[in-house]
Amino acid sequence: MHKNENGMRPSRCNALSKAVAAIAAMAALLTPLAYGQPAPAGAKTGTHLVLLGTSGGRTAWRGVEAAGISSAVVVNGQVYLVDFGAGWLRRFFQAGLGAPPPARGLESLRAAFITHLHADHVIDYPSLVLFGASDGLSERKTPLRVFGPGPRGKLPPVSGQAAGVSAIVAADEPTPGTVAMTEGLYRAFANDINDNILDSRKPNPHTRVQVQDIVVPGATRIDPNRDSAPDMAPFPVYQDENVRVTATLVSHPPVYPSFAFRFDTAHGSVVFSGDTSPSRNLERLASGADVLVHEVIDTAWVDVLYPKPRNAAQEAKAHHLVHSHTAVEDVGAVAQAAKVKVLVLSHLAPADSAERRWARAKEGFDGTVIVGRDLQWIPVGASSAAP
Ligand SMILES: [Zn+2]
Ligand SMILES: [Zn+2]
Repeated sequence: MHKNENGMRPSRCNALSKAVAAIAAMAALLTPLAYGQPAPAGAKTGTHLVLLGTSGGRTAWRGVEAAGISSAVVVNGQVYLVDFGAGWLRRFFQAGLGAPPPARGLESLRAAFITHLHADHVIDYPSLVLFGASDGLSERKTPLRVFGPGPRGKLPPVSGQAAGVSAIVAADEPTPGTVAMTEGLYRAFANDINDNILDSRKPNPHTRVQVQDIVVPGATRIDPNRDSAPDMAPFPVYQDENVRVTATLVSHPPVYPSFAFRFDTAHGSVVFSGDTSPSRNLERLASGADVLVHEVIDTAWVDVLYPKPRNAAQEAKAHHLVHSHTAVEDVGAVAQAAKVKVLVLSHLAPADSAERRWARAKEGFDGTVIVGRDLQWIPVGASSAAP
């Protein structure tokens, strides 16, 4: 009798389990795909925070379950999106935010906001401007509004010794903002877009997605290589009948601009830290908010990721992780200083750290701490509780 790859004789039990697996695979093929989950009771009215993806950084690609960072604020059934981490679109439907067929699914999406242009926050932005523009947004009467950072304006300095640094890319426009990034995507995917326009008679994406770089007050006086988040008052970004969105600069060097956003509705307020080290500007923006969604990093993980001794590249990366993010033991003090009621941890770095590692967020904070998980619905302010 032959042996299999493990050197084991195939048993009757083995054959049986293979047959069961084959039947299960067939059954899976025959089961109709669920088109998202129904939105929880009470979600049609009020304001809810929905965590679409809670993983920070590139950890989404390490095989962890959590999708990349992306969140939604749902106000009276309208959706406002913050960031486009890996897998946000799948989570959007899984969370029950999309309209069921025959509607295309993205009609409920009203506006989107990008905190900063690190890849883990925009890696699936193409899903919106490519799939969305030709499908889910085609039926809209008004374009979807997208607000994101403008150009950095100058390159960051080299960290450490200049020797051994690679040549930069796109030297003619090395620090593009959101508008330029979007146009770059349209160029990169022109083959597909033009096919859709001409052959499938889909609309030009410019008519369905209106992208705008956020103008920072006093930007001309800011040198991102000296201080990327000088002290400032929150400033308005967007307003409609459901929501007023304000922003501030947060400290995430060398990134500039890096924003935190605050959403005020008739029911309450929710603030997103974006990526930041403990930030005075953020405390001011989040002052008295019902919910603060804050990024966190488990700094012990950095030492595992980049054990000493480190080469220059590893040292630079470890330095960024520790100094441009907020350690879990420091985030409680931020929430306390801002006097928020609920602190939601998201952008968990790494997303697969044990729950007890995140428990330190409670240190120095009197309010409620929620360790964010994908597809969680959290009522904001006076909104009814959702399961
Ligand atoms: Zn990030
Ligand atoms: Zn970042």
